[in-house]
Amino acid sequence: MKRNLTFEEISDGKRYSSGDLAKIGCGDCNGCSECCRVTEDTIFLDPYDIYSLSAGLSETFATMLDKTIGLTVTDSVVTPFLKKKESDGACGFLNAEGRCGIHSFRPGFCRLFPLGRIYNDDGSFDYFIQVHECPYPNKTKVKIKSWLGIPSLGRYEEFVRTWHEIVKNISECMVDNPTLAREANVRMLKIFFETPYDMTEDFYSQFHERVLIYQGA
Ligand code: SF4
Ligand code: SF4
Repeated sequence: MKRNLTFEEISDGKRYSSGDLAKIGCGDCNGCSECCRVTEDTIFLDPYDIYSLSAGLSETFATMLDKTIGLTVTDSVVTPFLKKKESDGACGFLNAEGRCGIHSFRPGFCRLFPLGRIYNDDGSFDYFIQVHECPYPNKTKVKIKSWLGIPSLGRYEEFVRTWHEIVKNISECMVDNPTLAREANVRMLKIFFETPYDMTEDFYSQFHERVLIYQGA
């Protein structure tokens, strides 16, 4: 997402790779669930998240839509997000014990926190620490790869780069050719979200097939 704050204002000024140690360890949250209580509909979901949620909940995007997933506009692009509870504004998956009810298949946004990603001009990205987001004191150093806990991280990071390019292109196109951009947004939603994934098949091969369809190859 684009924000008006500078990188230096929100981070320690450093860029990290997944093999680096970062001071983000928060003692398994130790009774805190602050970041899950104030999500404010900002847990944006990508196709990997939808695949993981579909597998974990035995649902499809269509059956989750309006119930656990909503659609919002961010950076001019219609994007799925995890809905908060109407009653108290907390994430719908935060359980009574103040723990994540879908920890093993929680979205990438949640896995990252309090890390963020910063993208470079060549499409690659680095991780950074959002230093003002998690109030836990005396954080310990943790390897980012372990923090994320995502299998086949190299393939996942390749997916993240590709997905970022697709969304960025739609967002940039909204300025020059909104009609074309809206059409691309509708196709993006249909191809990468609404069309159910085959849970017996690997995510990445299905994603790459869909990229080719999206690009009209
Ligand atoms: S704010 Fe920090 S310590 Fe609290 S639940 Fe979130 S990550 Fe854990
Ligand atoms: S999915 Fe889990 S980790 Fe993410 S905001 Fe909801 S309760 Fe918190």
